Amino acid sequence: MVWIKGSAHPDTSNVSGRAYVQVFGLPICVTFTMKRRTRRVLAIVAIGFLLVAVGALARPIIHLIYTASRDVRGPESLPPGYVDDASRLNRTKVAEVWKVPVDSQDPERQLAELLRRAQASGLRVSVAGARHSMGGHTIYPGGIVIDMTPWNRMQLDTARDTLWVQAGALWKDVLRYLDEHGRSVAVMQSNNSFTVGGSISVNCHGWQFDRPPIASTVQSFRLMQADGTIVHCSRTENPELFSLALGGYGLFGIILDVELRVVPNERYRLEQYIVPIDDSLATFDSKVAGRSDVQMVYARLNIVPDRLFDDVIINVFVRDPHGSIPDLSEPGMAELRRAIFRGSAESDYGKELRWNAETKLQPFLIGKVFSRNQLLNESVDVFQNRSADSTDILHEYFVPRHRVAGFVEAMRNILRKHRPNLLNVTVRSVNEDKDTFLRYADRDMFAFVMLFVQQKTAEGEQKMETLTRALIEAALEHEGRYYLPYRLHATREQFYRAYPQAREFFALKRKYDPGELFQNQFYVKYGKDQD
Ligand SMILES: Cc1cc2nc3c(=O)[nH]c(=O)nc-3n(C[C@H](O)[C@H](O)[C@H](O)COP(=O)(O)OP(=O)(O)OC[C@H]3O[C@@H](n4cnc5c(N)ncnc54)[C@H](O)[C@@H]3O)c2cc1C
Repeated sequence: MVWIKGSAHPDTSNVSGRAYVQVFGLPICVTFTMKRRTRRVLAIVAIGFLLVAVGALARPIIHLIYTASRDVRGPESLPPGYVDDASRLNRTKVAEVWKVPVDSQDPERQLAELLRRAQASGLRVSVAGARHSMGGHTIYPGGIVIDMTPWNRMQLDTARDTLWVQAGALWKDVLRYLDEHGRSVAVMQSNNSFTVGGSISVNCHGWQFDRPPIASTVQSFRLMQADGTIVHCSRTENPELFSLALGGYGLFGIILDVELRVVPNERYRLEQYIVPIDDSLATFDSKVAGRSDVQMVYARLNIVPDRLFDDVIINVFVRDPHGSIPDLSEPGMAELRRAIFRGSAESDYGKELRWNAETKLQPFLIGKVFSRNQLLNESVDVFQNRSADSTDILHEYFVPRHRVAGFVEAMRNILRKHRPNLLNVTVRSVNEDKDTFLRYADRDMFAFVMLFVQQKTAEGEQKMETLTRALIEAALEHEGRYYLPYRLHATREQFYRAYPQAREFFALKRKYDPGELFQNQFYVKYGKDQD
């Protein structure tokens, strides 16, 4: 504490007095004589500090208000008879969108009848969950789209720790239900907005540490095939269909319901490491790998253009068993987090602000505890692009650990050359997948999830295609693969290099579905008319 007592001398240019300063609780008295000029300089410095402080706060506040004021509220509506997906670039006319019925006595018989009707009228059928795939994987032009979302019932078997769940259920509903029973999802994406059926049909993965993709948690499922028959698939019953339909993009039939292995809901504490990119793998080895208390991990690369990929934040969630598990609630500060995120799409300053928020504010969270379910309970609404002019496009590349450094360097060069509007790069580890046929993790991999803003114009589309092909090429050169649920920009040649098992995969599709009833844009581009 400081207090000052003094007086000015009108006949001189001096101000004198006594200042009392408290140091560690002891009052110390200092007598001083200050020149008027000195006082003026001090006043100017104080005003300067004030202006800098106001300026430092004003810029981010103005930036966030500007971002929020430009944010559009709702999704665009589609003309009747049209469907689209999360890319908002696949508007397509279809014959019909058929919602699976919930109010009838025998809904599965009705579904089988629909398949017969489609076959009789020569229509193709595609299956849709929450439609967050981005390449028309849920759409066939002029076909029938089966909307699975009404089938969302679930039942936990506490003795076996398995969840029976209908394929149209969203993770947000699954999490709410499991939370009431002290359980959680073993593997899912980083957001809760997807259906169980869509998630296992792409074989999703998340940031659950030391885990293969979701197929590893599937015990069994029931599949309706093209002729309307229902088969039970597991590792011992119809094992070939089991491995084909998991990660099978709806080409082998309709997954009706699934038995999933679940895990306990637990309390976690955050540890955070902010390191130069060259130290990131060593930090991963010393702070994360081999620890049994580590449960969820993701890293984020710095995307500020003049420091592109120079440093990394590694977020590690460790078991913290001493204390109660926080209740599941709606994620907090959604509006502010959205403004910070969307603001990073607007300018380099926005990207800098977001990086600073994550590296300087987030450390205050260290020591804060979270429930596993809360961490998983994040909707895509928080960051979704709602603009009519642009859209956000995801990419994902998987590379083995010994090629990570080379791939990061290649990515950086490609991004510096093409200069896209990059919003995010998250890195996770994915363990080898031993369950699915069309597998992307044929060994332990590091996954790079990238989000870009794209203009919804022919030029924007062209630029994104060129960029995607360059990044896929870099992944392939580094023994890697790319993820299939996004835009269909890979050439056929790139697709078959990334997935050498794909020829057999599509041949088996035609064995199980000889009339090619189940089709979508992904199948049309890569699966049909093979040379
Ligand atoms: C913002 C965002 C974040 C994402 N984050 C991740 C992530 O962290 N990890 C990750 O792995 N992926 C991620 N993805 C990709 C996501 O996992 C897939 O797009 C997934 O398919 C979404 O589920 P959905 O219910 O929207 O599926 P849809 O897009 O509706 O369907 C996907 C595929 O599954 C088929 N399908 C759907 N339901 C059934 C069924 N019942 N029977 C048979 N086939 C069916 C469809 O025909 C289609 O081919 C993300 C996507 C977005 C847009």
